[in-house]
Amino acid sequence: MKQNSKRKKYIVGNWKMNPQSVAEVKTLISGVKKAVFSPKKVDVIVCPPFVFLETVSRLIAKVKINLGSQDVSINEKGSYTSQISAGMVAGFGSKYTIIGHSERRKEGENDIVVNKKIAAALKTSLTPIVCVGEEVRDEHGEYLAFLEKQLQTVFSGISREDISKMIIAYEPIWAIGKSEADAMKPHDIYETSLYIRKVLGKIYGMETAAIPPILYGGSVSGGIAPAILKEGNVDGLLIGRQSLVAADFVSVIKTANEL
Ligand code: PEP
Repeated sequence: MKQNSKRKKYIVGNWKMNPQSVAEVKTLISGVKKAVFSPKKVDVIVCPPFVFLETVSRLIAKVKINLGSQDVSINEKGSYTSQISAGMVAGFGSKYTIIGHSERRKEGENDIVVNKKIAAALKTSLTPIVCVGEEVRDEHGEYLAFLEKQLQTVFSGISREDISKMIIAYEPIWAIGKSEADAMKPHDIYETSLYIRKVLGKIYGMETAAIPPILYGGSVSGGIAPAILKEGNVDGLLIGRQSLVAADFVSVIKTANEL
């Protein structure tokens, strides 16, 4: 099935808890910068650990790369030891924040917390990249009901206007952190992204449901990105480990820009 090539694409790099030093951050960014020409049809977003936000913000000041964080607090300020607010993240030049990543959910974060984090981000200039996805894909299709409930909870109380400003990252948990062969197949991604729009349509109406970009994430590399971008009915990709390999990350950006 052909992709709508008119919609802007998003390629997001989630660096997770990497790299280990400022020197490595510099090497990684300079690798991406060397090859990041001016992708006209792609928004490139890198999400480093909090401690590197300032460094990365300086390093990308003159190029078409955007900054995002990997999380934000539900709280605005005050006695919340170790937490980082959406306002602080925005203050470092971030335009985006990932919310509800499965590796946060593993630490106990649930859909209600994700909903509160979305609300906190929306009080600032940050665009939330909201992660959703089932833990297992059962053969009876129960994951569909799971996804519907998850979408209803994380977007509870979120207005039509606000959902239109968001990015949704469909990240089936079973496909994250695996090998390229374990990534979800483009046809299944195609069907699930349609399903996500259908659920959003029930909540917001089909016109609004068509607006937020839907990305896929889960063991994507340069090898399989073209097929997913062409046949997966998605507006981009959220890439974890492979976003630390500059050449691979850049090859995905180029593919997205040529669609
Ligand atoms: C992620 O961190 O969101 C992710 C999809 O990781 P990976 O690409 O390493 O599976």
